[in-house]
Amino acid sequence: MDRLPDDHPDIVDCPDCVLPAEVLWRADLPSTDGPVPHVKIRCLARHWFLLPVAQLRGPRPGPARYQGA
Ligand SMILES: [Zn+2]
Repeated sequence: MDRLPDDHPDIVDCPDCVLPAEVLWRADLPSTDGPVPHVKIRCLARHWFLLPVAQLRGPRPGPARYQGA
């Protein structure tokens, strides 16, 4: 199966709320420092963002906020 690369999870934290967000799309976008990997994400509250991968907040170790899912 041709899945997204493993360097980042498919589910990240929404930058605007506390809900999980799904990675919909990713691409390298040009910048003054060269190509920067970006992702498009959409959270359960239907916020969506196009932002650099470096700004993602992925699932964290430690106490889970989404227990019981
Ligand atoms: Zn959100």
